[in-house]
Amino acid sequence: MEGKANEAPAIGIDLGTTYSCVAVWNHGRIEIIPNEQGYRTTPSIVAFLDAERLIGDGAKNQVAMNPSNTIFDAKRLIGRKFSDSKVQENKKLWPFRVIEGPSDTPKIVVSYKGQEKEFLAEEISSMIVGKMKEIAEAYLGKVVKNAVITVPAYFNDSQRQATKDAGAIAGLNVIRMINEPTAAAIAYGLDNKSEYIGKINVLIFDLGGGTFDVSLSTIEEGGVFEVKAVSGDTHLGGEDFDNRMVDQCVSEFKRKHNKDLSGNQRALGRLRFACEKAKRILSSTTQTSIDLDCLHEGIDFSLRFTRAKFEELNMSLFSQCIKTLDNCLKDAKVEKSWVDEIILVGGSTRIPKVQHMLRELFGWKELCKSVNPDEAVAFGAAVMAAKLSGSDDKNVREMLLRDVTPLSLGVDLKGDVFDVVIPRNTQIPTKKMKKYITTKDNQFSAVIKVYQGERAKSTDNHLLGKFTVSGIPPAPKGDVVFEDCFEIDPDGILTVTSKISSTGISKTLTIENEKGRLSKDQIDKMVKEAEKYKLEDQEYKKKVQTYNALENYIYDMKKKVKEYNVNKRVHSGNLKKMENAIDETSKWLEDNPAAPISELQRKKVFLEFVCTPLV
Ligand code: AMP
Repeated sequence: MEGKANEAPAIGIDLGTTYSCVAVWNHGRIEIIPNEQGYRTTPSIVAFLDAERLIGDGAKNQVAMNPSNTIFDAKRLIGRKFSDSKVQENKKLWPFRVIEGPSDTPKIVVSYKGQEKEFLAEEISSMIVGKMKEIAEAYLGKVVKNAVITVPAYFNDSQRQATKDAGAIAGLNVIRMINEPTAAAIAYGLDNKSEYIGKINVLIFDLGGGTFDVSLSTIEEGGVFEVKAVSGDTHLGGEDFDNRMVDQCVSEFKRKHNKDLSGNQRALGRLRFACEKAKRILSSTTQTSIDLDCLHEGIDFSLRFTRAKFEELNMSLFSQCIKTLDNCLKDAKVEKSWVDEIILVGGSTRIPKVQHMLRELFGWKELCKSVNPDEAVAFGAAVMAAKLSGSDDKNVREMLLRDVTPLSLGVDLKGDVFDVVIPRNTQIPTKKMKKYITTKDNQFSAVIKVYQGERAKSTDNHLLGKFTVSGIPPAPKGDVVFEDCFEIDPDGILTVTSKISSTGISKTLTIENEKGRLSKDQIDKMVKEAEKYKLEDQEYKKKVQTYNALENYIYDMKKKVKEYNVNKRVHSGNLKKMENAIDETSKWLEDNPAAPISELQRKKVFLEFVCTPLV
């Protein structure tokens, strides 16, 4: 067992659609932790190969060669059903296979070590969370157990719960989940503490790789963060802009060469990579080109892309962001002039047109760029992690967070009517109760269906779960009263209890146990599997290192033998023996690329023994 002294502080993880970031409160300040390549953000990508599994930069670098086994966008799948229209839409563009699992759950299919494997989105996300945990552990030199993970403010209950499960599968105790824009507000609030007196109203405009969130908050001088309203789209971000560029390239290819490359996954993977790069360039210059050799059926592809074309292709998506922002202002019942600061978060806020539209909307107000758009969310999460771990820093200790629930929660009434119990933008944690009556004479049981969303018809909203309350005493319709109690915890996760007032019989809906959700047993099983994969990765790494060590040693000794041959400093008989041993080992290594570690080590020890006179 690891002792407390070896335990690292709790970390903050921004689990992004395209990139993830990890931070920690260390030595009285926030540190963004670089990965082993020195980068402060890590691609949220997992790749499966014949011999190994890669996560992060390694996975991204080989995507064009292995598109069907390189998984990205797990965040776009998490907590969603396979039949979800957004999943179906994205499925057409993903180069990897997604199939329907039990209870309408999407499963990702890959080939790993020569075998077909199926993974849930939670498992892929857990691999990314696990990677962020490892990055933090390597930096801190200690075992990380606790973390705060962020989620888009507009995530529904299923998506939140599934993200929490991903953390658990990675072996982390998720001490809190906070909304991404709220985390960014914390980062801004702490970073600019000396800049404002009294209170300040901020708009967080968070446009990342896959999600869009907007939130209106008030930050008070003493460190009280109060969210007024949130809005957003869990399926809108940089990847949608990339997709529109890819579509444009596919059409251009068809127009120029009369060939359809949309079925060529490798070509699509290469195009997506090139389009994302071109998109970034277009944020600082007004034109660029996409050039790819032998893209499809041996034909090269070249296309000049202007910023104006990029904007035209994505204008409807940019307008969607502005419309969502307008709705958020209406929800919070505030005018644009209420906003003192507009804070940009997420890589896609670097797009000039997005900034232009925002400034135009707010009467050419300057945008605040003092927080790093890629790191602010992890920064805020790490501050929260420090607070929850009992940090004695004054700023952290005094911080108080009042967040809201993004979507209304309620029950289904007769006639597919959605009856709201907790309206959206209610401060959390919260507990609300509503009374309902039986709709039939001598009704024995009642099915309580819990929905989340803003539509009037229940079935147009997201069904979170249902349960049956039975044992209702015989009575005319309308005589039996139910008390439905909705409780949202600080993570934004819901528990519903329904009680028959006269008998006190009650039933609780624990959404975790609903179909499509992971049970404790399933999570335990996945934790074990995740550990197994991690051990396999470590074993593979060690094997590569041992293989390389032997290969390097052979190379060094060959060089030394040559030198000694020239200088004649060793007896020629001995030298011959050494040369033979080096050549034999070299040939053996070539013939046995999959030799076990012990064998590689044994060969090296033997060679070292024979070549001692050379060293
Ligand atoms: P995030 O989820 O916040 O890490 O944002 C990642 C998204 O931002 C990806 O879709 C990137 O392609 C996009 N992005 C990053 N830098 C730029 C840039 N300079 N211009 C346009 N998009 C960018």
